[in-house]
Amino acid sequence: MNDTIAAISSAGGPIGLIRVSGEHAIEAVGAVFQTKSGKKLTETPSQKLVYGTLHDKKGKVIDCCYAVAFHVPHTYTGEPMAELQCHGSTAVLQLGLDALFAQGVRQAEAGEFTRRAFLNGKLGLSEAEAVHDLITARTAEAAQNAAAQVMGAVGSPVQQMREELIGMVAHFHAVVDFPDEDIDPVLFEDAAALLHRTTSRLYAMAESYERGRILREGVPCVILGRPNAGKSTLLNALLGRERAIVTDIPGTTRDLIEENVKVGQLLLRVTDTAGLRDTTDPIEQAGIDRAMAEASASSLILAVFDGSKPIGDEDMLVLARSAGHRAIAVVNKVDLPQQIDEKLLKKHFLHIVPLSAKTGEGMDKLLSLIPRTVGLGDGAFDGALITNARQAAALARAAERCEAALYAAQSGMTPDAVVMDAEGAIAALGEITGETVTEAVVSRIFSDFCVGK
Ligand code: GDP
Repeated sequence: MNDTIAAISSAGGPIGLIRVSGEHAIEAVGAVFQTKSGKKLTETPSQKLVYGTLHDKKGKVIDCCYAVAFHVPHTYTGEPMAELQCHGSTAVLQLGLDALFAQGVRQAEAGEFTRRAFLNGKLGLSEAEAVHDLITARTAEAAQNAAAQVMGAVGSPVQQMREELIGMVAHFHAVVDFPDEDIDPVLFEDAAALLHRTTSRLYAMAESYERGRILREGVPCVILGRPNAGKSTLLNALLGRERAIVTDIPGTTRDLIEENVKVGQLLLRVTDTAGLRDTTDPIEQAGIDRAMAEASASSLILAVFDGSKPIGDEDMLVLARSAGHRAIAVVNKVDLPQQIDEKLLKKHFLHIVPLSAKTGEGMDKLLSLIPRTVGLGDGAFDGALITNARQAAALARAAERCEAALYAAQSGMTPDAVVMDAEGAIAALGEITGETVTEAVVSRIFSDFCVGK
């Protein structure tokens, strides 16, 4: 049995949560928490909140709050657990924690609760990783996808495919063990059908990672344009509130301004930049250099042009910077008489959106175009999108080995060849569920978690 660990699991706010897990969790909390009814915490039913007082290590009352005991097997970690729902003061929480430490409990490490849940078989590894996605989700859609994964949207199909492959390999082993017997061709046909189905499924899952990553991390996007084209006004229109400084003095936005903007189901990580132009001012030039560098690192460029003016030399810098990137030309200020040559823009951009960042006219078109341009589009997020690079790599490896096994089965190679590749696929799938993962990988995964989860 593991030692007993505790941590503050809440992050600010009026209510604070102390979580305890391990053999003596309920006794330790019972020693620092006095129930109002006088009943011992160890004797209260599992998962039932009880009211009472929390005491520091000298026995002084430091809070009136709730405690709850979780008896095995219905606990997150698979061990006895208890929680204190206190008032959110850091002083209260720290004193509560210190009182528990005086009972022989130790501070939990990052991700240690979830790690114990994984090691005790309460969660598969892909489900545990999804817990981290859920904690860090920045949009409702990302949370939806992660929640489905916590409930097995990735782990269950992977486990099912793995078991089918194990079944197939077992059949082949039976044959390999009796080399003098003729091999039934049906065995190869059945294996090929299974391997074909599994290969396609695995490739589809691995390929969903690109969309999954966009869903989880958002898309880095940069707004480029000459001074006064309306970049800051566009950022504010995207945000729906004033954030960047808007003025008509050219060169106001010298540094980079970064904001998260929700566009449909997509999180756009927008950077507004210094206007691109030739300048002798070294500070402004530094801002322009940063804008250029930012554009290279972005997945989407919103290239803003002032529609009320002809295309000038400064706009040519924007055209050059957008070349070869996923970009949308925003022709701003359509509320003014237009002078811009759209034909020239059409030569450089696949997507052109005329709009007025000031009046909002045309903004809808831009908002609907952005998710489609970056490849997220619409759709339900039922956990089917892979959001984790480690899982995506293991899926791709499993798909390749499955495909190789399929080739071996179809081309009448020896059963050993089928078995060898199928076993490679089984091992790769086991890395996702956690069955064949190394201790070092497990440690790295859980070290990314926060303390208290
Ligand atoms: P930036 O230098 O590219 O960031 O440009 P700003 O957003 O600071 O805008 C420069 C000037 O253009 C300001 O006076 C804005 O009010 C004005 N402006 C921005 N967008 C529009 C628009 O759609 N229509 C009109 N008429 N003026 C705009």
